[in-house]
Amino acid sequence: MFDVAIIGAGIIGCACAYKLSQYNLSVALIDRENDISLGATRANSAIIHAGFDPEPNTLMAKLNVDGNAQCKEICKKLGVECKEIGSLVTAFDEDDMKTLQKLLENGRKNGVPGIEIWTKEQVLEREPNLSKDIIGALWAPSAAITNPWQLALAMAEVAVVNGCKPILNFDVSSIKRENSLYILSNGKENVRAKFVINAAGVFADKVSALVSSPTYKIIPTAGEYYLLDKSEGNTVSSVIFPCPSKKGKGVLISPTVHGNLIVGPNAQIVSDAEDTKSTASGLAEVREKASKNVPCVNLRQNIRNFTGIRANSSVDDFIIEFRCENFLDLAGIRSPGLSSAPAIADMAVSMLSEKGLCLEKKENFIDKRKKISFKHLSESEKKALIEKNPKYGRVICRCETITEGEIIDAINSPIPPCSVDGIKRRAGSGMGRCQGGFCAPKVVEILAREKKISPLDVLQDKNGSYILINETKQEG
Ligand SMILES: Cc1cc2nc3c(=O)[nH]c(=O)nc-3n(C[C@H](O)[C@H](O)[C@H](O)COP(=O)(O)OP(=O)(O)OC[C@H]3O[C@@H](n4cnc5c(N)ncnc54)[C@H](O)[C@@H]3O)c2cc1C
Repeated sequence: MFDVAIIGAGIIGCACAYKLSQYNLSVALIDRENDISLGATRANSAIIHAGFDPEPNTLMAKLNVDGNAQCKEICKKLGVECKEIGSLVTAFDEDDMKTLQKLLENGRKNGVPGIEIWTKEQVLEREPNLSKDIIGALWAPSAAITNPWQLALAMAEVAVVNGCKPILNFDVSSIKRENSLYILSNGKENVRAKFVINAAGVFADKVSALVSSPTYKIIPTAGEYYLLDKSEGNTVSSVIFPCPSKKGKGVLISPTVHGNLIVGPNAQIVSDAEDTKSTASGLAEVREKASKNVPCVNLRQNIRNFTGIRANSSVDDFIIEFRCENFLDLAGIRSPGLSSAPAIADMAVSMLSEKGLCLEKKENFIDKRKKISFKHLSESEKKALIEKNPKYGRVICRCETITEGEIIDAINSPIPPCSVDGIKRRAGSGMGRCQGGFCAPKVVEILAREKKISPLDVLQDKNGSYILINETKQEG
């Protein structure tokens, strides 16, 4: 029996687990997938937004600015990549300038630091590749870029090291209430808990409906991207947004923390919340919109397309409310959900405490992570490490310089991965130009060897995504 069961191990569930694990509580972090952050958290723009978009006095407004500061602090503490590069919202005409003025006012009311409107000259001095047709832009220096799945994993790993139990491959399909406890079931096994947090992303309305009649509806909305090679990473130095519209923040262009360039997303309502295919029409829309802001953007250097699904909802704000006694919905968490995650988790913890969850601080809370990044070590540190363990001297991913030692560290990490992509999310192998073309077979070999399983059982990503189907040659 757990004090708190969290349904959904995306950035929101992981942030809740991280915050709750600082207290003497038993916590379960449940997900239907075989790993952490396989929903919206792994396919988004990776921007820690400054916080000028949300209308003042909304939950989004309150939680974005606090979350922005907390995300940066947590990234620093837990060794997650994060760069404060600032953002610009561009204007092409007087109507756009009026929108910028409104965003400036929003930003000031929401407490966004250092926000100001720049002239065309100021903008082009910082960003010479922007269209010469722009007439000004809104500058927000506190906007940052990060690695969203690393941030989720880092928080979840710390939570697990401090006693939180990860329960993966557990699709919550029914919920009963018995003797003041919730019994979550996947049809085969049960998890009992006094309090439940519903952080199920695009499925939050379905999970909520297991305990009460729905009061909101999730409207899954796809966003498609280009990820360009590192040769294009310097095209812009800050996050470049167009003026926002009713559909959202629009197609942005930004460097990534890995030195690539990300371009997207569009916004297309989809009927299937798991439909992450890329479409020719969606990508054409991204191309057209991106080149308005940055005419020289070189989409021929594309190394990957991907699609993320937003949990937009019928409510124009985050939905953070009790659905039933001790059952808290954290739903409709679309952008700026990543940026707001730690602040959303703080709010959730405080709401549970008001309902009687006893918050007693753990004396021995371990708020750090051990993670070796070989390529970031000095030459003498590299040498010493290889002497201690020669596996750090064998480079497996040549694009990103990821060693066998780091891959084994990932396999032995607090939430062990079971797929090639799980290793990629932890160690960074396969993130480079060849996108795993060369290193994936070696990663399969290492994963099979370390886990003592057949290479035929190694997954690429989600359950069922087998890579090898048969042996071609039998020995002997
Ligand atoms: C295209 C796009 C761009 C975005 N860009 C940004 C950005 O730049 N900055 C920003 O701040 N935000 C951004 N966002 C929003 C941000 O990504 C989300 O707000 C955030 O990732 C939501 O996290 P989550 O944990 O609520 O959902 P998810 O990450 O989707 O996690 C929900 C989890 O619940 C699990 N689950 C669902 N149903 C069940 C069940 N029945 N049983 C067990 N587990 C279940 C799922 O498997 C999943 O792992 C963007 C989103 C998208 C899609």
